[in-house]
Amino acid sequence: MPSDTVSEESQVEPVDQTVEVAEDDSRFRDPLLWPETTTNPVRIRWRYAISIPVIHLLACCVLIPWLFSWTGVVLCVLGMYVFGTLGINLCYHRLLTHQGFVAPKWLEHGLALLGVCTMQDTPACWVAMHRMHHKYSDTQPDPHSPLVSFLWGHCGWLMVVNRDFRNVNFYEKFVRDILKDPFYLRLERNSFWTVLYAIHALLFFLAGFGIGWATGKTAMDGVQFGLSLLFWGVFLRTVLTWHVTWSVNSVTHVWGYQNYKTGESSRNNMLVGLWSNGEGWHNNHHADQRAASHGHKWWEFDLTWQTVRLLEATGLIKNVVRPKVWSTDAKDQ
Ligand SMILES: [Zn+2]
Ligand SMILES: [Zn+2]
Repeated sequence: MPSDTVSEESQVEPVDQTVEVAEDDSRFRDPLLWPETTTNPVRIRWRYAISIPVIHLLACCVLIPWLFSWTGVVLCVLGMYVFGTLGINLCYHRLLTHQGFVAPKWLEHGLALLGVCTMQDTPACWVAMHRMHHKYSDTQPDPHSPLVSFLWGHCGWLMVVNRDFRNVNFYEKFVRDILKDPFYLRLERNSFWTVLYAIHALLFFLAGFGIGWATGKTAMDGVQFGLSLLFWGVFLRTVLTWHVTWSVNSVTHVWGYQNYKTGESSRNNMLVGLWSNGEGWHNNHHADQRAASHGHKWWEFDLTWQTVRLLEATGLIKNVVRPKVWSTDAKDQ
């Protein structure tokens, strides 16, 4: 059911169908102040300020040859698609935030659990931040505009206390529709989502331990194989997926081209478009937020959209929202 927030969000300025290239707007060259709701003096959000560097350090351990296995490498690459593309791009972003299609609850919840395993907070929190970003893009209330500084937009914002994040009214205003579902409410309580992340990491280790022990000679073979899956398939994959998502917040509001005049600094960035499996066509997305495809031109390849098409073809999802510009282009021909 569409929320007030989504109705608001869908009332974006009509897309300029002539797809003119926007001129550089000097407003977006001026530095932006931190959101007013950021605490002053700055208070550190310790849970993030500790866990983010720690998981980076754990990811760096893949340089230790003893922790290597080809299975771990494959799980890392596959995991970026399974957890990052399906969990974050498809579910948190295109489904839960923008309602670009309709999925049965069992599928929606399953995909949301994949998103939880990227350690990018709960669906409700992620969606609230992102809807806020769209509402205030590149103005002071935007929680992560890179116009404050690149590092702030990339990950700095996560490590500083912002009163909005602790305000019940904030969640009520931005994600009422999400929190109506007891499944998402449960994930909010007692940091249950972090427990789920830990359980999935443990499962990676235990699966590797069992297989390694069964196929090796000693229990130590199991430990080595289990740890290789944990460090490559969980910690490294988590960090890489973070930077993919973070680069959409930072890089694509600084570098790239614009198909549309959207009134903020969003860009389409070729590199981010490809490594994020479609999220980097960010100016297109700001112009037409509900569209489940972020690539609007034939060369703007969007693997997440191809996944949506596949799910639609199988009948699993329906009411897929296509970019408005496609129907206009078709009428013009
Ligand atoms: Zn944006
Ligand atoms: Zn969005």
